[in-house]
Amino acid sequence: MCEKMKVAIVGYGGQGAWHGEYILASDVVELAGIYDIKEERCALARSKGIKVYGSFEELAADNSVDIVLVATPNDSHKEYTVKSLKSGKNVICEKPVEMSAAAFDEMCAAANESGKLFSVHQNRRWDSDFLMVKRTIESGEIGGTIRIESRVHGSRGIPGDWRQKKECGGGMILDWGVHLIDQMLQLIPSKITGIFCTTTHITNAEVDDGFYLEIFFEDGVSAHVEVGTYNFLSMPRFYMLCEGGSLITNGWNDPAHVAKMHTWNEKQIVPVQTASGITKTMAPRDDVTLDEYDIPSPESDVHDYYRNFTRAARGLEESAIKHLEVRRVLRVMETAFESAEKKQYISVEI
Ligand code: NAD
Repeated sequence: MCEKMKVAIVGYGGQGAWHGEYILASDVVELAGIYDIKEERCALARSKGIKVYGSFEELAADNSVDIVLVATPNDSHKEYTVKSLKSGKNVICEKPVEMSAAAFDEMCAAANESGKLFSVHQNRRWDSDFLMVKRTIESGEIGGTIRIESRVHGSRGIPGDWRQKKECGGGMILDWGVHLIDQMLQLIPSKITGIFCTTTHITNAEVDDGFYLEIFFEDGVSAHVEVGTYNFLSMPRFYMLCEGGSLITNGWNDPAHVAKMHTWNEKQIVPVQTASGITKTMAPRDDVTLDEYDIPSPESDVHDYYRNFTRAARGLEESAIKHLEVRRVLRVMETAFESAEKKQYISVEI
């Protein structure tokens, strides 16, 4: 059993404090302390018995710190990441790692120079609904993928903090979009050939409070990624069309519902009566050709992120989050902004 690695958190806000709790419960890392520019957050940490560094320089000079966790607003990720790598620390940076692929390249260059591990906290790869969809695709249970739709809907607008401001890296493409796009690219391995995106500005003129993103892949699969913060009724979290059936998920932890087709042709189609007419096209299938069932949520442990990171930092396994994957997501987001601004479909090779 290796010694626990020590993590220092920069930015002890909502997400920094979440990491603090999760580090305290970890079997592979322990908390060295925190640094935050707001005195009230420092006071909160002290009240929990957590060490508070007086400056970032003091934290960076602490030789007992193995990992710096950057959980500040998005516009300071690069600065803290590069400084931490230069001071010989491994770095976990919160998502979105940066606002452009070019800025991310600078961070990767600093990591290569330092020889330290630099990873991005794409924790939603451990979401059980996402894992259910991934395992269904991998098992081939309902055949090849035709289209995947991934949505999150809320009705509270953008939280009233730095997320409202463009210069801080605000808006929903960068906030939730980065998670959903990262998941989507894990589900569909093909090259991306085209992107079309529209953004909404219902509650905020400066940054997007929602978006509708279409991604087209070289192998013919298409994806829809959508975030809404003015949706008083929510659509399903995942909806997937496959050659041999369909899948739908609703609540974060609910089972996925699957309809698996046994044969395409039915002996007799009974027309269904609709409000003002009949239809055979939309008539439900019979249970000879179609089977419907639930797939339970798989077990998932968020601590696996730090387990993988510490093993990768010791050279014992590969990092679960690869730089090339993170870079692809950044390029999709950059193109989504371009498409929304020009109101155009953009051809790409990503
Ligand atoms: P927040 O506003 O709650 O917290 C940010 C904290 O950083 C505040 O305490 C603030 O005082 C501090 N801070 C601001 N500028 C600083 C600076 N220059 N130096 C040091 N401290 C500074 O924001 P949050 O919701 O915790 O988000 C922080 C980061 O975490 C963002 O990048 C966000 O996208 C990410 N995040 C990730 C997830 C996830 O699921 N992976 C969830 C929420 C937030």
